[in-house]
Amino acid sequence: MLRLYNTLTRKIENFVPLNPPLVTYYSCGPTVYDFAHIGHARTYVFSDILQRVLEWSGYKVKRVMNITDVGHLTSDSDTGEDKMEKGAKREGKTVWDIAKFYTDDFFVMLQKLNIKTPQTICKATDYIKEMIDLVKVLEKKGFTYTIEDGVYFDTGKISDYGKLTGKSKEELEKGQKAGFRVEIVPGKRNPMDFALWKLTPKGVKRQMEWDSPWGKGFPGWHIECSAMSMKVLGPTIDIHTGGVDHIPIHHTNEIAQSEAATDKKFVRFFLHGEHLFVDGEKMSKSRGNFYRVADIEKKEYSPLALRYLFLTVHYRTQMNFTWKSLNASQTALTNLYDHIRKHIQNGAKEGKLSKEAQKVKKEFEEAISSDLSLPLALAVVWDTVKGRLSSSDIYTLLLQFDTVLGLGFSDIHVSIAPDIQALILKRDEARRNKNFQEADKLRSMLEKKRFAVNDTSVGTIVIPRNNNAKR
Ligand code: AMP
Ligand code: ZN
Repeated sequence: MLRLYNTLTRKIENFVPLNPPLVTYYSCGPTVYDFAHIGHARTYVFSDILQRVLEWSGYKVKRVMNITDVGHLTSDSDTGEDKMEKGAKREGKTVWDIAKFYTDDFFVMLQKLNIKTPQTICKATDYIKEMIDLVKVLEKKGFTYTIEDGVYFDTGKISDYGKLTGKSKEELEKGQKAGFRVEIVPGKRNPMDFALWKLTPKGVKRQMEWDSPWGKGFPGWHIECSAMSMKVLGPTIDIHTGGVDHIPIHHTNEIAQSEAATDKKFVRFFLHGEHLFVDGEKMSKSRGNFYRVADIEKKEYSPLALRYLFLTVHYRTQMNFTWKSLNASQTALTNLYDHIRKHIQNGAKEGKLSKEAQKVKKEFEEAISSDLSLPLALAVVWDTVKGRLSSSDIYTLLLQFDTVLGLGFSDIHVSIAPDIQALILKRDEARRNKNFQEADKLRSMLEKKRFAVNDTSVGTIVIPRNNNAKR
C-alpha cells in the first residue's frame, strides 16, 4: 500500500485514488523568465519520482504541468513587476521570446535529469478564457470585489481559508504582514485577499494583456493553476505538487478560489518538496546563489549524478548542495554502472526473479511506498549489488528499480561512465589542438582504467576490456 505525506492533514496517509487505476496529478511548473537552477531541478526530480512510484504501484497517471508565462509578480503576492515583463526588459526581447527561450531550456534540463515529461503541458497564456470564466463564476457567487488594481478574491467570505498551512487566519495575517515587503494594495478588504484579474493601469501598455469583462489586464498567478487543473483534470484531483514555498500563498489561494467556485474538494493529496540550499541559504535566482545543470556539466559532472544526489535525501528534508557531495554521488553512480557492466559481462540476462530476489524487490517496494523513502531504496540497491544473488537476479532487479530511480541503468551496455566520457572529451580536445603529449597521457589513463583506445575519424573510441573490467 502506497503511503504519502499529505500537507492538508499533516499526516502520512494511505493513498487510494478517486477512480483507480487512474490518478489525476497536477504539478506547478516553472515561471519561464530566467534559467532554471538545480533548486528547481530538485523539486522536479521529486515530482518525477512520485509519478514513477505511482506507475510502479500499478496506477495509470494522468499528469499536467503548467508553464507560467504571465502573471507571476516579483512578490509572489499582488505587488511588484510581472516577472515575465521584467525578464523581457532585462534582455531587450519580447515576453513571448523570453517565454519560448526559457521554456525550451527548462525541457532540456528535464531531459538531462531523466525526468519524464508530463503528458499535458499547459501554457498559462493558452488558458486565458478558462481563467476569465472561473473569475466570472466567483463573481456571480459573490466571492469577489473590484478595485482600481483589479478583481480580488474576498478571503473574508470563506471560513476555512488557509487550512493547508494549519495556521489560523490571524496567524497567517501576521505572517503575511511580516513576510512581505508589502506595498499594500489600496482598497483591499483583508490583507490576505488576492488578485484574480489585474487591470492594466491607465496609460500603461503591457506586452501581455487581454480584454475581460472588467477591462484590459492579465490573470493573477494563482487563478492560472486552478483554471488549468480543473479544465484538464476535473474539479477534484488526486495529487498536486510543488515546493514548500507554495504552501502559504499559492496553493492556499488555489484551494480557496477553486473550492469557492465548485463547492467540491479541489485536491485530495498535496505534496510539497523541501528546498535545496547552498551555504545554508535557499538557492534562488533573487539571491544569486544558484547553479544550473549546465554549470555542473562544465565541471564534468553528469546530470544523473545530480539526480542520484537528490535521491540520497528524503524529499521532505532540506538539503544543502556541496560539490563534495556531488562528487561522492558521481563516484557512487559510476560504481553502480561498473557493477552492471560486470554482470553483463558475466552473461547476466533480464528474466524471472528467484524467491530470494523477490524478497529484495519487496524491500525496495516497501521503501518507495513509505512516503517515497528513496534514501532507503538506495540502501536496498547497494545491498543488492553487494549481496549474493546471481548475476541475472541482480541485473534484473537493478533494471526494475531503475524504472523508479531513473538513473540510466538500462543504457549501460551502450553508455560509458561519465568520468570516462570526460577523459575522452579531454583527449579529443588535446588531439584537435595537436597537443600529442597530453593526448598520450590521457590514452594511458584510459588504458589504466582498462579501456582499449582507438583513434578514429569521429574521435577517440574506447572499448571496455573484456576481463570483468574493474576500472
Ligand atoms: P518558480 O519558477 O519560482 O515558480 O519555481 C518553480 C518550482 O521550483 C516551485 O515549485 C518552487 O517551489 C521550486 N523551487 C524554487 N527554488 C527552489 C529551491 N531552492 N529548492 C527546491 N525547489 C525550489
Ligand atoms: Zn501553481
